Order: sequence, then C-alpha cells, then structure tokens
Amino acid sequence: MMGKEHRISIATLTDYHLQDFIRCPYQFYFQHIEGKITTQLDRRKKVQFVVNQVVSQYYKLPQKSQTTKKVMELIDDHWSAIDVRQFESKVHYYMALANITDHLLKFLTSKIIEYPPLFLYEKFNINIEELGTELSLTFDVAEWSSNSFIIKKYLVDTDEDMNLLFNNMISVFCKKAFGQLPERIEIFSLMEGKIETYIPTMKDVSDGLEYLYIMKNLLQEPKKYLKTDSLTVCNSCSYQKRCYEGININQERCHSH
Ligand code: SF4
Repeated sequence: MMGKEHRISIATLTDYHLQDFIRCPYQFYFQHIEGKITTQLDRRKKVQFVVNQVVSQYYKLPQKSQTTKKVMELIDDHWSAIDVRQFESKVHYYMALANITDHLLKFLTSKIIEYPPLFLYEKFNINIEELGTELSLTFDVAEWSSNSFIIKKYLVDTDEDMNLLFNNMISVFCKKAFGQLPERIEIFSLMEGKIETYIPTMKDVSDGLEYLYIMKNLLQEPKKYLKTDSLTVCNSCSYQKRCYEGININQERCHSH
C-alpha cells in the first residue's frame, strides 16, 4: 500500500511509464507520481540511453559505413557518459560494457541494412477508445518487409513480463494506428544476447487491449501498489533510501531491506 491518493487518473498510457511500473510499482510512484528528483538516473536507464544513441546513429549511416569498426567507435563515444561508480564493482562495469558491445556488434552487423528504416526512435500517440486513454509508444526501429514491416526493439535487459508488454502494446498500436499488424516483432536483449521473435495475430490485439485495460486500472490505484520482489531491480534503484524509510509498507510482499 502506498500514497495518500485514492485514485489517480491516467490520460496517456506510455511505454516508458508502463516499463517502470512493471519493474517496480513503488519505484514508479516515487519517480512519476511523487515526482522526487533523484541525483541520478538509474544505471539501467543510462545504459539504455547509450544503446538508443548507438543504434539510432548506426541506422542513419550510409550502408558502406555500417561496419564493426563504426559500432565500436559509436559505443566508445557514448559509453563515457556512464559512471563506473554506478556499478557494484569495476568488474561489473567492464562485464556490462563487454556484453553490450559484443551483442550490439552481433545484432547490428549481421545483416545488411538495404533501406533506411521506416521509423527510427519515433514516438507516436493515438487515442484508444476502448481504453479511454491515449497510448504513447516509441518505435525503436521499424523496417520494411516484403508483406508489411518488422519492429525491432533493442533493450539492455528484458524478461517475459517486459516482452509481453511490448508485444501487446505494439500489436494494439499498429492495428489501430496503421490498420496493419507487423510481420514480426523482434526484441533483442543486449545483456544476454538473446532475440525473442513474435508473430503477432489479431488475438494479440484483443488480448493486448484487455491487458492494457488491466494495467491502466492497476496504475490508477496507488494504494494497491506492491514492491518488486526482484533484488536486481532494487540493486540499481535510485529510491532505495526513500523506500527503506518504509512509508505505508505492505508487509506481506515487502522483502526485507
Ligand atoms: S528499493 Fe526496490 S522495492 Fe523499493 S522502490 Fe526501489 S526497486 Fe522498488
């Protein structure tokens, strides 16, 4: 249980908010509802920002410049924004850098990009009547395919819940906004080097609408928020102190801090 607010109203459901909420509703509350300014973005968000820059700049390069060397240079240029002190140790920092570099190289250079992408880190909004809200979604990379288009998402780390969120959001969004489903959705997990591929169907649109409706209702009731039970999420959370102060903690789910 959390907060004084009985119910908050959601005018726009954004992928950014939903991702944070799925990771930890408490963290979402501190950041987006209470609006507490933290001294630093959490580590994962900073690394994600670097990844987005590298992918975006790589896709904008002319085909002949899309080389392994160029990926290394782009990573080198942007990685300096990451402070080693945000990691548990130097080893952890270098392991993360090595993993991200290795997997970005593999994913970006394995295929020749023949045409400029349809969208590149472009944010769209659409009103969804069934949800009574707007839906806001950023498309990392959308590429033309023979039948329609392919959506690619490059994430620092991801899990089943996160993949389900994107699969649902992308399916609903594409059908409503473009009148067509993507041929496939590819989610790249850069820490693990894995690709999850989904072929969306009309069932994903109806399931997705139901899912988003449930998420909207959960978001609207801070009193029912629960803490995450993932220590990994807590370890990189900028709100640990605030959270440890233990305001209105729901004892049942709270892991011992
Ligand atoms: S410390 Fe853990 S439970 Fe608390 S807000 Fe951060 S991620 Fe959530």
